[in-house]
Amino acid sequence: MANTQQRLPENVPGDFFVDSSCIDCDTCSQLAPTVFRDHGEQCSVHHQPSDDLETRLAMMALVACPTGSIGTSSRHNAHIGIDAFPSQVAESVYFCGFTSESSFGGWSYLIVRPDSEGGNVLVDSPRFTGHLVKRFHEMGGIRRMLLTHRDDIADHERFTREFGCERIMHLDDGAERLGVELVLKEQNEVKLDADILAIPTPGHTRGHVVFLYKDKFLFTGDHLAWSPARKTLTAFPGVAWYSWAKQTESMAAC
Ligand code: SF4
Repeated sequence: MANTQQRLPENVPGDFFVDSSCIDCDTCSQLAPTVFRDHGEQCSVHHQPSDDLETRLAMMALVACPTGSIGTSSRHNAHIGIDAFPSQVAESVYFCGFTSESSFGGWSYLIVRPDSEGGNVLVDSPRFTGHLVKRFHEMGGIRRMLLTHRDDIADHERFTREFGCERIMHLDDGAERLGVELVLKEQNEVKLDADILAIPTPGHTRGHVVFLYKDKFLFTGDHLAWSPARKTLTAFPGVAWYSWAKQTESMAAC
């Protein structure tokens, strides 16, 4: 719950605000860029929502924020934000929202597909919340959980217990120690089923893996990201925990 006493001075006056607990994960500025911006080491409100769409996106950001750092001075119906998740990105791919502080606000996705095609797939782990659990059950459960790397695993154990899903992760990021069911050991691409390809991309971490779905959707973890400001793909040498040189090699390979 955000604290009005801790409201950052960078917020413009008005209803929505970010407080000093913000960890600068950029979830809000990516979800609702017309309302939130990264002003340096943290995010703040640069424009108060002025219509229903902006209010809805700001409420989605409030719900998705891993640290509860977004607040409002007036009352809003929280379900405007909660019920929006999982939120369709394109075709059968949904953004789960509800990011976790233990994953530093890393984003997770749900791929919805019939059992005949292998069933639903969760890519990385969101926060374990009653709403997401209910919606995942309504949408067909979770058959597999693809874990890109050790930083974004959040509540993977609780989701596994709830849905009996099979986790997939690389050995070099501690998959065996975590009790992961299917441990990737190769440094080559592995076809997990007709539509999902696992591609090892060491660099950010030693056992980082990206997953390609239907030759169209690439779930990149922390290997590669879209920069809305620069409108291009980008990566982060400052957080290449294993090796930036290896990460660069991995970029060239895929
Ligand atoms: S989502 Fe929350 S923690 Fe992340 S940048 Fe926005 S206010 Fe900060």
